[in-house]
Amino acid sequence: MKKHFVVIGLGRFGGSICRELHSLGHQVLAIDIIPEKVNTMTDYSTSSTVTDATDKEALLALGIKNFDVAIVAIGENEHASIQSTLVLKEIGIKVWVKAQNTNHQKILEKIGADRVIHPELDMGIRIAHQLDSDNIIDFINLSKNYSIVELKATGKLSNRSLIDLNVRAKYGCTILAIKRGEDVNVSPSPNDIVHEEDILVVMGSNSELKHFEEKGM
Ligand code: ADP
Repeated sequence: MKKHFVVIGLGRFGGSICRELHSLGHQVLAIDIIPEKVNTMTDYSTSSTVTDATDKEALLALGIKNFDVAIVAIGENEHASIQSTLVLKEIGIKVWVKAQNTNHQKILEKIGADRVIHPELDMGIRIAHQLDSDNIIDFINLSKNYSIVELKATGKLSNRSLIDLNVRAKYGCTILAIKRGEDVNVSPSPNDIVHEEDILVVMGSNSELKHFEEKGM
């Protein structure tokens, strides 16, 4: 289903969200206070405008009320980011906001942001997990204690079936998918065979995953 998004702040983060949503076929209104930034998005948005996103009347005049989600991607200027979030929540739409630091994040949560994104922090955590282990390709935090990791299958797992590996019984974690080149087996059956260099998508508690990675791989 196609949705209506408004992206506020067209720096690297907001710009990439705007381009991607537009290429996915959504209606995207791109907003920035600087005309040159708005010009860079004219080909990658449904419409674009130079507007101060802290100005409630200006946002109301753009019909913001009818959009599904506003993405506030104002970087450096925390005051403008907070002010804009406040105004958008007053108008009554869903707001996803980029936070610059944990203090900013706390304020955004307090004033009712529907989702606060902290790209540098999140990416830092993912990269640290990739550096931590030679086998971890990617890492997604589901909650404080649960994650999904992508692990590269070692020779130890090669040519063994899932039933033989018995990962859930031995380690408590679940193999959700097996990636082999461009192919993704999203519901592997017990008799499916793992090959060396396959990417296993595994879900579990952090301690179960660590145990599997250290002892099972
Ligand atoms: P990034 O780190 O993602 O590149 P930037 O800080 O460079 O982020 O970009 C934030 C964007 O937000 C800038 O283009 C800036 O002009 C815009 N911006 C700042 N204040 C406002 C505001 N009040 N209304 C609309 N856009 C704003």
